[in-house]
This record gives sequence, structure tokens and C-alpha cells, in this order.
Amino acid sequence: MTEYDTDKFYEGLVKHRLIIPVGVQGAFGRGAVFEDVLERFNGLVSQLSKDDRAEVYTFPPIISRSVLERVNYLDSFPHLCGAVYSFFGKELQALALSKRVHDGEPWGDMLGITDVVLNPAACYPVYPSFTGVVPKGGRLVTMLNWVYRHEPSPEPTRMQSFRVREFVRVGTPAEVVEWRDMWLQRGLDLLTSLGLPARSDVASDPFFGRGGKILAAGQKEQKLKFEVLVPVISAENPTAVCSFNFHQEHFGSTFDIRTPDGNVANTACLGFGLERIVMALFKTHGFDPELWPKEARQRLWP
Ligand code: ZN
Repeated sequence: MTEYDTDKFYEGLVKHRLIIPVGVQGAFGRGAVFEDVLERFNGLVSQLSKDDRAEVYTFPPIISRSVLERVNYLDSFPHLCGAVYSFFGKELQALALSKRVHDGEPWGDMLGITDVVLNPAACYPVYPSFTGVVPKGGRLVTMLNWVYRHEPSPEPTRMQSFRVREFVRVGTPAEVVEWRDMWLQRGLDLLTSLGLPARSDVASDPFFGRGGKILAAGQKEQKLKFEVLVPVISAENPTAVCSFNFHQEHFGSTFDIRTPDGNVANTACLGFGLERIVMALFKTHGFDPELWPKEARQRLWP
């Protein structure tokens, strides 16, 4: 499949029951074959990193609203956030709410904000737990988390909710940068071993507004973010399937994380966008995994 057509690719995924529409853009169910590929790819990542001795955690798809507030998420990405609202009223307000819903009228203003938000980045839940002094040599954590971004789109790789296999490294600047560079190569090697035409590039986050353009330019200039890209929807604008981020002291100072030398800890994270990688495999090798190249099949179904 070297022809790039967003609608045809989406229709192909649906026709082969790889994804199941649910009536909202950027959200869909996943079929058994899709999940099998996703779990096997995630298994390869685990296998690659088994000697790294990462601590393994699982978090729910919600985080404390205070975490989002403390990391300044609403300054940088207000357009992507998803906060959870619920009903706090009494009998009378409940009747009014019911009437509004049944009359087809807006009812959002009858809800109030809760203490939780949908988690927008796979690594966010873990930082508050690092507060204090990390051991010599730092820490390494891995997680597979669902994340939320409010960017509805008919384009299948742009999802509102998806899974990221994430690793987070805490330590001195030298420790975390060396670790990130090692993984950049590892990620590229893993994807090319599956027959994906992957390449890496310097990248920036989708910061909001005019001020965001300046932040993005600074991020690129300092080479704080790298992405691994594979063409899925277009040859000219390949899709980011992994990202590698050096946060410097951002989370260390926010959550008071220190290295044994007394300095503020540095952090870096990397994430594999699991659904995007699965879609890159279907785009590159076709919708039927039985017909994929032998090397890719042997890697995923040894
Ligand atoms: Zn992260």
C-alpha cells in the first residue's frame, strides 16, 4: 500500500474489522487482530528492555486535577485537556437536568468540576511519586497507560484516546540524556526490524497559541524532543509513532525530586504510540497479517 488516502485507509481498517466505529471522531473499538498485533509489539518492547530492570506500574486513565495544574498543562495545551465534570445538585436540580437532556438542550453548565482529569500524557501519574531523593543511579519506570487528547479528527492515527508504552528515567542530566539517546537508536532498530520505513527527527510539542510558537522553536533549538516517524497517512508528513523527551528540571523542580548530590533531578521519558505503530504495520504490510513479510511475522509471532 504505497498510495496515501486517509479515507480509504480508515475504510480499510473498518472493513477488515481492525477498528470498530463508535459514532465519535477519534474514538473506536479495536478488533482481536488489531489487539493481537498491539500486545505482541508491546511484548517486544518488554523483551528489549528486560535487562534494564524498570519498575513496572499501571495507572488508571484519570489523574489528580492538581497534577495537571502543577505541571502548567493548561498554559501550554488548554486545547487538548479533558476535565471530568459531574453532578453535585439536589433533587430539584436533578429534575431540571433531566428535563434539559430530554428536551435536547445544553446541560453542561449544570455539572461541576471534579478532582480528576483524563490523563493527557502517559508519564504524568508517576512524577508525584518521585518526590524526595532518588537513589544513586536514579530510577527507571515503565507503564502502559491510556491517554486523552481533545483533538477529534476523521484521520485514524489522530485519536482522542489511545495507549502509550512509556518509560521514565530520573537522574542526573548526563544519566537521562545518555539513556534517551540509547533508546532512540533502540526504537529505530526495533521498528526497522519489523519492516517499517522509520526515521528520527527533532520535534516540538503542539503548544497553544502565538506564545506556543516561541516555546516550540526553543524546544527544537535545544533538541529536547525527538520523534520516530513512519509514513501512514502521507509520504510528506510521516506520522510520529514514538517520542523521546528531555524535560530537564521541569518535573524535578515541580515535584521536589532530588539526586543524592542535592541537585534538582532531571527527567526524560519516551513513549511508543501503540495504536499508531499497529496502524503503520497495517499501512506498510497490508490489512491481513497472514500476508505480512516473513521477517516481520517471525518477530511478532515467533
Ligand atoms: Zn512522557
